[in-house]
Amino acid sequence: MYDLWMLKKLFLLTLVCASLLVPAPGVWAQAQPVAQPTQDSQSATVYITRTGKKYHLAGCRYLKSKIKTTVKEAHANGYAACKVCHPPQ
Ligand SMILES: [Zn+2]
Repeated sequence: MYDLWMLKKLFLLTLVCASLLVPAPGVWAQAQPVAQPTQDSQSATVYITRTGKKYHLAGCRYLKSKIKTTVKEAHANGYAACKVCHPPQ
């Protein structure tokens, strides 16, 4: 009886450890390397709009009003990278 209980406990412990060690599939997708080097990306020129909360590359189809800025400035003002044109993070 005692052995069975121990086995059950060990099995549950292993499951908990495995779920902690193995990241969710979404984490792997995010960990993919980015093309631009991180150092230069902060000073890269990007564009924001008057109304939106995202910053874009020149030529993005969501870029209606074109206000020139840098990635660093955009971040400082709470802008996030556009998911369509993928400007530097
Ligand atoms: Zn965009």
